Amino acid sequence: LNRRLAAFGTTIFAEMSALAVETGSINLGQGFPDSDGPEEVREAAVRALRDGRGNQYPPGPGVPELRTAVAEHQRRWYGLSYDPDREVLVTAGATEAIAASLLALLEPGDEVIALEPYYDSYAACIAMAGGTRVPVTLRPDVTGPRPAFRLDLDELRATVTDRTRLILLNTPHNPTGTVLTREELAAVAELAAERDLLVVTDEVYEHLVFGAEHTPLASFPGMRERTVTIGSAGKTFSFTGWKVGWVTGSPELVAAVRSAKQFLTYVSSGPFQYAVAEALRLPDSYFHTIREDLLTKRDLLAGGLADAGFTVFRPSGTYFITTDIRPLGETDGFAFCRALPERCGVVAIPNAVFYDHQDQGAPFVRFAFCKRESVLEEAATRLKSLA
Ligand code: PMP
Ligand code: GLN
Repeated sequence: LNRRLAAFGTTIFAEMSALAVETGSINLGQGFPDSDGPEEVREAAVRALRDGRGNQYPPGPGVPELRTAVAEHQRRWYGLSYDPDREVLVTAGATEAIAASLLALLEPGDEVIALEPYYDSYAACIAMAGGTRVPVTLRPDVTGPRPAFRLDLDELRATVTDRTRLILLNTPHNPTGTVLTREELAAVAELAAERDLLVVTDEVYEHLVFGAEHTPLASFPGMRERTVTIGSAGKTFSFTGWKVGWVTGSPELVAAVRSAKQFLTYVSSGPFQYAVAEALRLPDSYFHTIREDLLTKRDLLAGGLADAGFTVFRPSGTYFITTDIRPLGETDGFAFCRALPERCGVVAIPNAVFYDHQDQGAPFVRFAFCKRESVLEEAATRLKSLA
């Protein structure tokens, strides 16, 4: 294994899901729903398979039906217009979109600013692309009525150097559940324009927001030309195994990402691309219902965690809750998560894996709530035994 990758070991999600299976624990670690997405979308995939659509290599940029549906989705929800032929690219999940974007846009030695804690593939992909990661830490704020992790815009500004090439943004943010406000995004946009930076923005949780509004960075003045926006069907439609994602951006940026993508997977998920095209056109009621459903689950698990003694950062978006374990007399999230299955039969993720600054991340632990209510209730009961 080369030096660029050796530091990364096995992804925490694989490690913790294996531990859940081994110990028969409730898996609130890796983020995947325990119920599949809409029946009609599954049927659409079956139809595509049966009708022989997508069973052979689909076109490199993705099937036209899906590229058109992605463009329509961006217009319907955000008023953004993209040309399906030149400004939309289908990828093997958001994961490949992230990898291809970084491989396409970075020169060796370029600095990439990423919000810390960051999704684990960011660090590995920046390294594979020969870039240098420069984290900007989201700070926990427990002073208000509602604890939350916040971006310090001055810190972000101070982090930009002459070697900064791009900002790798993520909102709604995994693992903290923070949704950047319009004001914060406007400041990021202004900074990017002023310092001539590109932005790769991971918006895979765009529809999973609660009492907050998701605004794509690309919708700010001047940002369309310098922003690569990433979406995924895995999150919005609860089909994480299908690995259908997409990129939208200017023709130049999308062509660049496609140059890398063609040599990674070339293409993927043929029949599922047709099904996702249908999913993206589901009526508003679908998008409202998944949000309502997740909101109930969020509050169920957040209540259970609070009762068990954790400090709870109730998320405005995503299906993750970050907690602070210090009120339980614990300080090391890694040790806590390794012991948790034995102690009470629940698996969680130590946020420290998403940090360079280990001291900052150590006491935080993430729980996923995209699970059936009965499962969350049982998890809450088990966690209470910790108190
Ligand atoms: N980005 C973030 C922030 C994520 O949480 C995930 C999924 N866990 C991904 C990207 C990857 O998405 P996909 O499954 O579509 O590759
Ligand atoms: N994105 C999911 C999470 O954060 C996991 C995806 C994966 O296993 N790579 O839990």
